[in-house]
Amino acid sequence: MEWIEWLFSREFRQFILDNNLFFPLLFLARVVGITAIEIWRPARPVAYRKVFPYDLTVFLVYQFVVFPVANQINEWVYLRPHLPDAILTLPLVLRVACYLVVADLGHYWIHRLMHHKALWRIHKWHHSPTYMYWLAGVRTTIPQQVLVNLPYIFAYSFLDLPPWWMYLAIGAFNSFQNDWMHVNVTWRSNWLEWFVVTPRYHHIHHSDSPLHYKANLAALFTVWDRLFRTYVDPDSITEPLTFGIGEEVPLVRLAVGV
Ligand SMILES: [Zn+2]
Ligand SMILES: [Zn+2]
Repeated sequence: MEWIEWLFSREFRQFILDNNLFFPLLFLARVVGITAIEIWRPARPVAYRKVFPYDLTVFLVYQFVVFPVANQINEWVYLRPHLPDAILTLPLVLRVACYLVVADLGHYWIHRLMHHKALWRIHKWHHSPTYMYWLAGVRTTIPQQVLVNLPYIFAYSFLDLPPWWMYLAIGAFNSFQNDWMHVNVTWRSNWLEWFVVTPRYHHIHHSDSPLHYKANLAALFTVWDRLFRTYVDPDSITEPLTFGIGEEVPLVRLAVGV
């Protein structure tokens, strides 16, 4: 069992970091792990063979174009206040909690703003899939990514001088969070929904029914929807959901957000 020991060794960790293999391996784990769960307990049938190559291409475009370009723009446009020492000396777990709450509140309002007529076109692509599974949620335009980054950059102030692994943990968490919201499973948990977004909760947000147009906008904590009156109880949905934007828009316009 030497190879198992090696997997948990400092040398292996260094090998992964030196060769930038963390996120590629994480993606592989997402493909295998989440797809297995979806095949085991799917909420709806999805033609994976038909849609996966397309969504994989979208993912690669996101990874190598949208994400780096948006980050570059955010280098010029961002706000990161310097917080008082009294906050920065709090235990890491409290600062991470503050980071999540502040960033998620900001995300809620940016998301809500993008559902306003004036900004809808930069977010429309995210709502374009007519099916729901974990990789369907990767469609993001550059302006959407720039806007969504803002509250996270702002809240990152709480993690001033984070430990070296923090950016990996946040990257992995963000990927997992987005996969999770869109994952195609029958699984439900009413008590968990009192705190965090579940797949069926976010699927209502993707519904093409005008009744759900501004429903369940939260990304992580469901409290924002309850507080700001955009909450739709998943238990109140009796008809099967259908997804998409209900209009034909040329792909380039959707992907660019114009
Ligand atoms: Zn939306
Ligand atoms: Zn979504």
